Amino acid sequence: MENPLKTVKAYAATSATAPLSPSTIERRDVGPNDVLIEIAYAGICHSDIHTVRGEWGAIKYPLVVGHEIVGVVSEIGDNVTLHQVGDRVGVGCMVNSCRTCTNCLAGSEQYCLNGNTGTYGAVDADGTVTQGGYSTHIVVVEDFVLKVPESIPYEAAAPLLCAGITTYSPLAHWNAGPGKKVAVVGMGGLGHMAVKIAHAMGAHVTVLSQGLSKEADGRRFGADAFHATSKPETFEALANTFDLIVNTVSAPLDLDAYLSLLALNGTMVNVGAPPEALPLHVFTLFNNRRSFAGSGIGSIGETQEMLDFCAEHGIAPEVELIAADQINDAYERVLKSDVRYRFVIDASTLG
Ligand SMILES: [Zn+2]
Ligand SMILES: [Zn+2]
Repeated sequence: MENPLKTVKAYAATSATAPLSPSTIERRDVGPNDVLIEIAYAGICHSDIHTVRGEWGAIKYPLVVGHEIVGVVSEIGDNVTLHQVGDRVGVGCMVNSCRTCTNCLAGSEQYCLNGNTGTYGAVDADGTVTQGGYSTHIVVVEDFVLKVPESIPYEAAAPLLCAGITTYSPLAHWNAGPGKKVAVVGMGGLGHMAVKIAHAMGAHVTVLSQGLSKEADGRRFGADAFHATSKPETFEALANTFDLIVNTVSAPLDLDAYLSLLALNGTMVNVGAPPEALPLHVFTLFNNRRSFAGSGIGSIGETQEMLDFCAEHGIAPEVELIAADQINDAYERVLKSDVRYRFVIDASTLG
């Protein structure tokens, strides 16, 4: 019998310690509701590094990571109505969900109660392990494929699919906009997008960064103010100020110090994920009726809304384009925060 699987080129992790290396993976045949995408660009997210190194739990090797994917539709299944061959499309952090639980039915499939199907390292409906975007092609069910507006620069679009939606979702949910004071903690891959999006939404934006080395960039991205968190006086000067704080830092920080910057009814939302539990004093929340919250990526509907919003406002991530053989070096630079502000792999260099 003919093997329906397509063998495609990729860059794979073969163990927790070995560098990523050229490889091939099998993609499923295009089913009636599937779209085959020829990948053009794939962003490098910090999550990719944690995952391949086994830092977020044991994984099955070889594994191809990458969940910031843009490309062109090259084949569609018989029942596909949402996309056409030649369309510019994107795929983010998930490729499916159960579609039947309360959260899926509410259009919040990122919070699927049965666990959304991650773009890599998850078990798909057919029992295979999903493989991500550091590859030349991917097959995805049509309603988890996003439309990427042509006005967004092609090579810069990929990081919107994780960094963009991860910051857009809480900013939209907590109504960042005119008259609202928003602080962004950390200005890396996620943080720089939070600044651009919050500014485009019309909020007053403050960056809270360890030092002031990125201040010129921050102001170029739309920040109205920029403060160094290494200075204790920053926390005195900004006490009771913000309606919303978006914390993009994955390292543990002094929650009480940051929560004390919230104004009446203010919320601090974490999109960075420190692995350890963080202590906080409930009294800090009593003052000003503050909230401490978390937010994970965004729904498919919200991701499309974000892409259209970025196109409308002419905003896109700042990227550094690399070839596939630079991925391992890029990982080291991400770990040293030596990237302004997201690495994107040119998929044409995968071999
Ligand atoms: Zn990511
Ligand atoms: Zn579900």
